[in-house]
Amino acid sequence: MAEIGKDIDHAKSLLQSGALVAIPTETVYGLAGNAFNPNAVAHIFEVKQRPAFDPLIAHTHSLEALSGLVTEIPDAAHKLAETCWPGPLTLLLPRKSIIPDLVTSGLDTVAVRIPKQALTLELLRQIEFPLVAPSANPFGYVSPTTAMHVNDQLGSKIDYILDGGACQIGIESTIVGFNEAHQPTIYRLGGTSKESIEKVIGPVNVNDHSSSNPKAPGMLASHYSPGKKIILGSFDELNVYSKDRTTAAITFNQPLPGIANEHSIILAPDGEVTTAAQHLFAALRQLDQPDIEVILAEQAPNHGLGLAINDRLKRAAVK
Ligand code: AMP
Ligand code: MG
Repeated sequence: MAEIGKDIDHAKSLLQSGALVAIPTETVYGLAGNAFNPNAVAHIFEVKQRPAFDPLIAHTHSLEALSGLVTEIPDAAHKLAETCWPGPLTLLLPRKSIIPDLVTSGLDTVAVRIPKQALTLELLRQIEFPLVAPSANPFGYVSPTTAMHVNDQLGSKIDYILDGGACQIGIESTIVGFNEAHQPTIYRLGGTSKESIEKVIGPVNVNDHSSSNPKAPGMLASHYSPGKKIILGSFDELNVYSKDRTTAAITFNQPLPGIANEHSIILAPDGEVTTAAQHLFAALRQLDQPDIEVILAEQAPNHGLGLAINDRLKRAAVK
């Protein structure tokens, strides 16, 4: 088991020595290492069993620190950075050569963001390197949103988990990239809604096509999987599905009739998509139990973070 605590100095000295530390962010918990240290970066891929073709996000604390990592910041990127950072938004920007190839999987852009989590921001301010920090879970499984989730799966492989409580947003960052003409595209829906991005820079395309070749940025077709069969649908569609004692349900704001109480999770009793996002991954984990065979999952409303929730559910449902 890993040690769990709030000791920034301890986290700092481990990271400085090249070790890995799990850190809280507002999106999900990350498995962090020194982005400038190729050994630390390689260790992250090994601990997560993450394929080397899947690039990492570098986390930093300020626009000044960012300028050490990238060669150019397009106007639209700058506007987004000023408005949305610290926050759940990742920008793909042309990288400087100081970034190891392994971080970017050899791509000429690097993914960067400033996270909005007090402990982690303080840690980033105190170290002289950025942190790469993919979700702190074995590759392909549900992302962790508490220190306990991290400990359950990676506790034996890391020394320390910095505990910032439950994640405020609960799903990964939105990823935005720019073409040569500096036109923005969303490559992954996430914790910053499309609407709030468009308020800052106008209309953006979404290109989050599932891919088994993540060189096309974005994500794999199958991900976030709790290892159960998941059936996705509207409340009415799931209502008519035949159920037994091995059926569980994750619904938006009302219980699904015919499901045992202990197998039924309502994501957003208040009807807010942001609440549903906060609870989504914990719900998928909770239903990863031997006596459950099928999870019926209701699609979230198609606005705000609902789009990102539906994206995660869709990928979780792919075997
Ligand atoms: P995460 O697993 O949440 O840390 O997110 C990392 C994801 O960011 C990867 O799976 C890619 O989809 C995306 N990504 C990171 N760097 C790049 C890049 N340079 N170009 C395109 N996508 C990237
Ligand atoms: Mg992940």
